[in-house]
Amino acid sequence: MTERLESLGFSAHFKSQYEQLDARLVPGRIVAMHRREWDVFTDSGAIRAVLAGKRWADARPSDHHIVQPTIGDWVGLSEPGDGTYWVIEHVFERRTHLERGAAGRRTTPQTIVANVDWVAVVSAFERPGAQDAVAHRSLNPRRLERYLAAVAQGGAEPLLVVNKADLEPEHDTRVRELTERFAPVVVITASTKRPDGLDALRSRCVPGTTVGFVGLSGVGKSSIINALLGKDVQKTARERGSDARGRHTTTHRELFVMPEGALLIDTPGMREFALAADAEGELGGFDDVQALSEECRFRDCQHDGEPGCAVEEAVRAGTLAPDRLMSFRELRTELDARRKLQQRKRRGQLRGKFKSKRAR
Ligand code: GDP
Ligand code: ZN
Repeated sequence: MTERLESLGFSAHFKSQYEQLDARLVPGRIVAMHRREWDVFTDSGAIRAVLAGKRWADARPSDHHIVQPTIGDWVGLSEPGDGTYWVIEHVFERRTHLERGAAGRRTTPQTIVANVDWVAVVSAFERPGAQDAVAHRSLNPRRLERYLAAVAQGGAEPLLVVNKADLEPEHDTRVRELTERFAPVVVITASTKRPDGLDALRSRCVPGTTVGFVGLSGVGKSSIINALLGKDVQKTARERGSDARGRHTTTHRELFVMPEGALLIDTPGMREFALAADAEGELGGFDDVQALSEECRFRDCQHDGEPGCAVEEAVRAGTLAPDRLMSFRELRTELDARRKLQQRKRRGQLRGKFKSKRAR
């Protein structure tokens, strides 16, 4: 076993599995997924692979033992018989995973990324006095709790990264508050606009460690990844916006190797994980508002100026804190926007079913 595999995260957990494996099979790590092809890093470089037909062709969702490989997975490959594609014959048992729950039309949870050591849950400070909705929402403690719970569930270590520290003169105080609230989870600040702004994050990116990034779009994940890699591999929000159809035109990689040796994962799946983590919190955390709303005159009361609204009445009477209603409205607005976006995406997917494109 070589240093190269170790530098890709081939730790003892995988080595011991490899010893039991059919000696014919070569180990590799999945770094990108296409429609029916996988890019895999092996000891001898990057290769293109397909799934072994026999193994997966008949797989049903109920066949839990038949694991679909995903980004970050270690797999056992057999050499191409006809000189073209390598074949993925085996998926190593995962050390950690990040799972998107059953939602909408999906009935089984889906693993979107495997074998991450850390998941950086990225949020951002807002410019003081500015109405920066993304930043404000990204620091919502209930949202952060949901992310942390979802990360912990898959066995990875969460790390709270508050970006755009350059915008917040009081960032030390704010981080101390967050640290107290979320202990033992580590909270660090980041800034892509300062030369030393990523030092704390960089120091955790040791060789062989895999770090995934999740968080609302706009908090600066792409900027952070680009800065850590020292080159522009991930498009930032502005560049993505200029791609009118929002899709990838070229082959892209989703697992990147940092010059310092850590492995960074940023995938469309991670972005969707963020959405799912939010949606799951829909009913959680607002029991007080929900209980009051049973007394509203209208069943579909939006608690926004309707006559006979028990929630607003409670605010007036001082039994419900006004900021509870405000955060409730905020979350609902966001969930509505997301639901619409997902519906639109779904319709788009149905229309484009037979075209091989990937929506970002
Ligand atoms: P993503 O959607 O999470 O990948 O976010 P992007 O990387 O696309 O960044 C969103 C916006 O935030 C861009 O305009 C960036 O220039 C800006 N941004 C990213 N990092 C920082 C930072 O540390 N400080 C400030 N002030 N702006 C940042
Ligand atoms: Zn109401």
